[in-house]
Amino acid sequence: MKLGLVIDTDTCVGCHACAVACKQWNTSGTLGPLTDYQPWGEAPSGVWFNRVRTYEEGDYPHCKTVNLPMSCMHCEDPVCVTVCPTGASYKREEDGIVLIDQDKCMGCNYCAWACPYGARELDRATGTMKKCTLCVDRIYDESLPEAERQPACVLACPARARHFGDLNDPDSDVSRLVRERRGQGLMNELGYRPVNRYLPPRNPQATPTVEPKPGLGDRLRNWVNRVVHR
Ligand code: SF4
Ligand code: SF4
Repeated sequence: MKLGLVIDTDTCVGCHACAVACKQWNTSGTLGPLTDYQPWGEAPSGVWFNRVRTYEEGDYPHCKTVNLPMSCMHCEDPVCVTVCPTGASYKREEDGIVLIDQDKCMGCNYCAWACPYGARELDRATGTMKKCTLCVDRIYDESLPEAERQPACVLACPARARHFGDLNDPDSDVSRLVRERRGQGLMNELGYRPVNRYLPPRNPQATPTVEPKPGLGDRLRNWVNRVVHR
């Protein structure tokens, strides 16, 4: 299996529900608890495993706002695993999820410096690295109804812009979406082979503009110009 996310940049509205759901799940979960400091204090700080970046594409009226939620890409050749000196970072053979063994991590930060997607966060409280686990602690949880065995970000998305599944299975919904909409990995040129895919925006519709009706002065000037050109 090659589990991953497929994100539709055409329908993502940039509401940040996925980022908030990720934070909520991981704050209360057991495998990747987030590091929040003074969440209700004077100087709150913390981390996001899933961030939504927003760009403007094209020129008016052929423009579109593109939202790009980004979390760990669960790369097929993960540089975070290559640079880890203790073997704490590893990629699971059975489903391709990249995880961190909290007992082996010594918080040296090498993986955070190496990851080009900014996916890793040092937990100052434990001195170990944390990141998106693809909600490994819920996608296999048989006590949950089957429809809920998905990452929290996917379940929360009100625009149904996030999809989760096995990208190794050509018949899965995610593989079909990638085929039909030409899904792309981010920064493929770096060679780490990110698993998550992004569906590009469809061509934006031009915003209809209303041409102002010519006034009496314009009509007269146009008539004079036509006569003079004969
Ligand atoms: S996105 Fe970064 S942290 Fe995630 S697998 Fe790739 S290199 Fe590692
Ligand atoms: S919840 Fe869905 S629509 Fe909202 S920012 Fe995340 S991906 Fe986009």
